[in-house]
Amino acid sequence: MINWEKAIVRSLHALRLDTMRAKFVAFGVAAAFVSTVAMTVMLYGGSRRSLSDRAGTELRGVTSDVAREVGVWLDQRLYDLRLRASPYVVSDNLARAASRGGQQAIDRLRDYLASVRQNLPAHDGLAISGQDGQLLTSSGSRTGLRLTPDRMNNLRTRDALVGEPFWDASLGKAVVQLVVPIRKDDGLFLGALIAKVNLDSVRSLLGELAAGDGSRYVYLITEQGRVVISSAGNPADVMKTTLPEATSRELTEREGQTVVQSRGGGREVVAVLRRIPQLRWAAVAETPRAAATRAAGALRLRTVFLLIGLLVAVGLLAYGVGVVITLPLTRLTEAAARVSAGDLSVELPTGGSGEVGYLTRAFNTMVSRLRERDSQSELEKLSLTDSLTGLYNRRHLMGTLASEVQRSRRLRRSFSVLLADVDKFKQYNDTHGHLAGDAALVKIAEVFRRTTRAVDCVARYGGEEFVVMLLEANMATAALVGERIRARVAEQDLGLGSLTVSIGLAEYPDGGETPEELIATADAAMYEAKGAGRNRVVMAGTSEPLPQERRTGRRKREA
Ligand code: GH3
Ligand code: MG
Ligand code: MG
Repeated sequence: MINWEKAIVRSLHALRLDTMRAKFVAFGVAAAFVSTVAMTVMLYGGSRRSLSDRAGTELRGVTSDVAREVGVWLDQRLYDLRLRASPYVVSDNLARAASRGGQQAIDRLRDYLASVRQNLPAHDGLAISGQDGQLLTSSGSRTGLRLTPDRMNNLRTRDALVGEPFWDASLGKAVVQLVVPIRKDDGLFLGALIAKVNLDSVRSLLGELAAGDGSRYVYLITEQGRVVISSAGNPADVMKTTLPEATSRELTEREGQTVVQSRGGGREVVAVLRRIPQLRWAAVAETPRAAATRAAGALRLRTVFLLIGLLVAVGLLAYGVGVVITLPLTRLTEAAARVSAGDLSVELPTGGSGEVGYLTRAFNTMVSRLRERDSQSELEKLSLTDSLTGLYNRRHLMGTLASEVQRSRRLRRSFSVLLADVDKFKQYNDTHGHLAGDAALVKIAEVFRRTTRAVDCVARYGGEEFVVMLLEANMATAALVGERIRARVAEQDLGLGSLTVSIGLAEYPDGGETPEELIATADAAMYEAKGAGRNRVVMAGTSEPLPQERRTGRRKREA
């Protein structure tokens, strides 16, 4: 493993991500987290820009609409006035007003104004003045309908004048004075038609255009920054407000652009200004900065929820994938543990494809091979041993004896054969039954096993006959073993009494040079022991009787 791989493994251990499932969840969640955060940062940055852009675009749209509509409104009013200033009756009477008998002409002009006013509801006052600005006649509210000689001079060369807007307290309205020239047919300047026009319709127009999410505020300002009229608020108070010079200058300089400004009291607004070409006024639309960025806040919240949702979903997904992948692995692990504990009956469900499916099939094959081998060795064991006592059977004994004869001949060494027959076993069987006899044989076999070395081959030779091949043991050693076996069997409590064995010993090569000869010699010695009264050990071919034999005497086997 490379160093960085080791570092990763170590940190995973530190995180306790030891199980595959935990790793899947951790990696899934980490991957989703990193990619979502990266995407959010990118998207959020972009959308924040576009959000403030959107607020600006809306404000720009509103100011353009206001500028256009107010311009149209003004053109309409001036058109109305020009229309009323042009008739012959106006110029004719105005021309005659200055001459003698002019009073009649003035009266006619007053009547004319009265009839005109009825058709112009926005015109709260109408007046006609002579060339010098002197008022000749008027209709409706008179307040402020006065013109300086300067302005009259101005009007000679122009086709309209727009006065400063002001608050008409008697009317309770914001008004503006509009003036159009009255000329003779030949263009001679005679005087002026003056109108006081209220700004009610402008105000409702601003109200309509401001309507948005309710946070928008639209108003008109003069060149000096004085507020003319606004979409909301008391018009009288509004008219008293003037924007600070720096504020109106910034707005004017950056006409048509979004400007962020402070409105005092820590209130920040996003504002846009647009000049109205026909007037020396400008339309301003603004909205609190918080409202413009509120949408961005909502987006942030949505993003956080989306992120959390995504993480949960990916976590669950990764957990699911982890379960799907680790379930067969867990099954495999458990099965392997059972097999290592010796249980070969394990069979895993296959059918899955991919690595795990392949591993499962390989595992099943491996276990079935183990099973085959296990049953083979079981069979082998069966073919070697006696089913009742578990000792080697006669077949195995004869094979072992044959190879031992060869080995001992080659090495010129000796070994001994011990043959034991249970005394009066028929009688035991008859008394206690065959099953008790079997149990007694098992216990006697156990004595044989315990009393001999592991290298000695202990076999059940026949019904109640046992043979022990004592490796590298001469007759004297064999006699010791024989005597020990005899004594232990005699001592053994069989539950229903006790039994004894008669033992015959033969040594290779004196007692025979083949397994059969050796067995026959030992058998003869065993019969000698029977003849001598049983429960004793006899060495073949020796005149030296064992202590017990000495006591009971010796008997040569006939035949
Ligand atoms: P002795 O050898 O002392 O002369 O007397 P004995 O009664 O043992 O005589 P014998 O060897 O002729 O009889 C052997 C008896 O052992 C015959 C048979 O009923 C019994 N026997 C042999 N094999 C088994 C066995 O596997 N189980 C049981 N219960 N009895 C067996
Ligand atoms: Mg017998
Ligand atoms: Mg017997």
